Amino acid sequence: MSISLKMQSFAEKSSLIRKMFEEGIRMKALHGAENVFDFSIGNPDIPPPPQFYEVMQKRANDRSPGVHAYMPNSGYPFVRQAIAARMSEEQQVTVDADDMLMTCGAAGGINVAMKSILNPGEEVILLLPYFVDYQFYVDNHGGIPVLVNTDEDFNLDLAAIEAAITAKTKAIIINSPNNPTGQVYSQESLKALGNLLLKAGKKFGTTIYLVSDEPYRKIIFDGLTVPSIFAAYVNSIIVSSYSKDLSLPGERIGYLAVHPEITDKKPLLTAMIMANRILGFINAPALMQRVVAELQQASVDNSIYERRREIFCKILRDAGYTFNPPKGAFYIFVKTPIPDDVEFCAILQEEKILAVPGKGFGAPGYFRLAFCVPESVISGSAKGFARAMGKVKD
Ligand code: PLP
Repeated sequence: MSISLKMQSFAEKSSLIRKMFEEGIRMKALHGAENVFDFSIGNPDIPPPPQFYEVMQKRANDRSPGVHAYMPNSGYPFVRQAIAARMSEEQQVTVDADDMLMTCGAAGGINVAMKSILNPGEEVILLLPYFVDYQFYVDNHGGIPVLVNTDEDFNLDLAAIEAAITAKTKAIIINSPNNPTGQVYSQESLKALGNLLLKAGKKFGTTIYLVSDEPYRKIIFDGLTVPSIFAAYVNSIIVSSYSKDLSLPGERIGYLAVHPEITDKKPLLTAMIMANRILGFINAPALMQRVVAELQQASVDNSIYERRREIFCKILRDAGYTFNPPKGAFYIFVKTPIPDDVEFCAILQEEKILAVPGKGFGAPGYFRLAFCVPESVISGSAKGFARAMGKVKD
């Protein structure tokens, strides 16, 4: 075959989520969409907030010269200024417009970060269970993913991270609120992680970057807030997007910001801007940059996700499943009542319930449910979850 062997193997590795997604399409055609309970994909179903449509309309009518032209590869300065001002409040560290660049989503931002810092063979620590595409992003730029477990509640396991750091460690990627677990790391644990990375950097004479992937920052429950990364560690890079909190994943709009005192700041930002260009993005979409600049305080109605979480957790608890209720994001990561998660997802499928096996996130023995679906789909699945549990109980 003429296709890259590596890409063939990657396509194979990422096939679990893809398989469920395709199964969903097949089953909906067969049984009717209303009879299939599809929790496989993290595609937000809540519409963007009303302000989005107002700003879009205004911006779409703008016929000033150059509105659709190329721009600096880092994005419009006024857009970066608006985001930097909001981030300064949120991070409690003053972020300048020149400390950041606009990217094609968080995925684009992580690729830009990896391309800018990695030499071939350098290692990037990824925490299990993980958003599986991280391993591909690391590999894209010649890095080696090093997989490290979190603790039994999916919190940071500092001892395990410390044990995994070597002279080749260039970065660690964290994600909080987390996909797939819904965990949110505490301020104390982030501070402890920052201290650990500083200490390890000193020991090896290296700089270890902390890349914080935060597209779910605003999707958070029980009045919690996501702690500041910049307050926790100087060599940190925040990557985020409007895919989840404004429900705009198809628009590919996000950003990346470096700590104002990050090591090698100037060459790092120069590399990042260059990476944004030569990865083929050139710049983030112009219209969406102009739109999100005016929506810094806007967000989808979080209470809708919070209500769904309540309903879903009750259904699962009543049926006898074990899980930690998510503190943020829109996923529940549930223990499978039998060891084989792929087999249990097949049993759920007999009940027309689509879930993704934990194996797809590097964590066998669990399954992930995405609750970015209408409430009726969640409540409609209750009997199926109970029956599936009944099938495997002694
Ligand atoms: N990081 C995590 C943890 C995600 O779950 C996703 C998408 O689901 C992404 C990054 C990619 O987000 P974006 O659409 O902003 O590129």
